[in-house]
Amino acid sequence: MEYISTRGGGTPLNFEQVTLAGLAGDGGLYVPTHWPKLTQAEIANMAGLSYPEVAVRVMKPFIGDILSEDELRTLCEKAYGRFAHSAVTPLVQLDGQHWLLELFHGPTLAFKDVALQLLGLLFETFLARQDRHLTVVGATSGDTGSAAIDALAGRDKVDIFMLHPDGRISDVQRRQMTTVLAPNVHNIAIDGSFDDAQAMVKRMFADTLVTGQFAISAVNSINWARLMAQIVYYFYAASQLGSPHRKVAFSVPTGNFGDVFAGYVAAQMGLPVERLIVATNVNDILHRALSEGDYSTGTVTPTAAPSMDIQISSNFERLLFDLEGRDGAKTAARMSAFEETRKMQIDPHMRAKAAEIFTSSRVDPDSMTLAMSQAQEKAGEVIDPHTAIGLSAAKTADIDPSVPIVTLATAHPAKFREAVERATGTRPILPRRIGDLFDREEACKKLPGDYDAVKDYITAKATPAHG
Ligand SMILES: *Cc1c(COP(=O)(O)O)cnc(C)c1O
Repeated sequence: MEYISTRGGGTPLNFEQVTLAGLAGDGGLYVPTHWPKLTQAEIANMAGLSYPEVAVRVMKPFIGDILSEDELRTLCEKAYGRFAHSAVTPLVQLDGQHWLLELFHGPTLAFKDVALQLLGLLFETFLARQDRHLTVVGATSGDTGSAAIDALAGRDKVDIFMLHPDGRISDVQRRQMTTVLAPNVHNIAIDGSFDDAQAMVKRMFADTLVTGQFAISAVNSINWARLMAQIVYYFYAASQLGSPHRKVAFSVPTGNFGDVFAGYVAAQMGLPVERLIVATNVNDILHRALSEGDYSTGTVTPTAAPSMDIQISSNFERLLFDLEGRDGAKTAARMSAFEETRKMQIDPHMRAKAAEIFTSSRVDPDSMTLAMSQAQEKAGEVIDPHTAIGLSAAKTADIDPSVPIVTLATAHPAKFREAVERATGTRPILPRRIGDLFDREEACKKLPGDYDAVKDYITAKATPAHG
């Protein structure tokens, strides 16, 4: 399998190259040249298999011969062996039609662990082959930073520098990062906002004094390997509910459109998906785009579901590319106009194509709170604010009652315990595996919100690409 840019530029890359690359040179995102297909028999055979085994079968076509099947299996067993539930992503039934797919049993309690645990191992494997050193630099407002740090801590040939806005993330989120004391993990608290930290990271990626010496990489959700790892649980859940003989719908709490795009890929591969519900909070650019064709940015409103508080959904470009008939030149023109005006109109024929599989819903704070309290009263399940937005959208969707609807439970309720306590009156307890989080030692460098200070710190500590 080869990978091309959504904007049509550059030469195709293989899976190893695309994993280490991040963004394409022309500013586009990498996608496979075509969507591989699994047969109905191959999907039927997934019923009853372990999570790592389903992962091997779903991801193999994207990886080709870059990893042997045995190498891939070993990596999947290692990545998913760190999950606290033996089913890795268990399905929980709420009522006759509704199910939760619990994606939060990984080390940092959010679904990002599912992809990042595997990505950490892929980095290590490929860097050892190439005898190269990688410097991962990122800015985080919470979940991504902790999942990336856990996945990369102690790995060979890679350092991670993670910037967060000092005093503006929750204590749980900060401690999940700063208590990881591995020598290749570097936490930096910036005096400033998340946007300030993000701007410094972007500047560093464009700074040839840095990129000339260090191989700088990102681990955000535009990375293809991350997206690929998320396709797996759609197959895993649907096969348990009777696919391919039965259609299944999914409701996905959405921010950057990575998770729900993985569901779209599953459908392109042959999984009979009845519908993908794109659930947004009041930061509703995707709901406006899919329901009215209006993809225009506004300002971000902070909510109780912060991982969905976005202005732009970076992975949406991958869907636009398909809706444009996989025309890179058209997608490039569309995206450069958007980058200039911060507005885009989705043409009616593209919307009609999207509507064959996607619907969307905007969930306000009251409906989110109601979903949390009802899940607890009616099904005895404590759910987090992100999951509640997905569940609320699932309950109001116009879907045949005979079709099961799976809501992706993207975070453990204890990760957002203040919001859960406000809605339900119950304060979720931290799972035992991280229960001593508040007793652990922290390590973090505080720096002023000044690019040169951050750059000097990172270049003094990082290892050159060939060092
Ligand atoms: C990242 C995140 C999301 C949004 O996922 P996208 O792939 O960005 O759409 C939803 N819920 C939680 C808890 C997250 O951490």
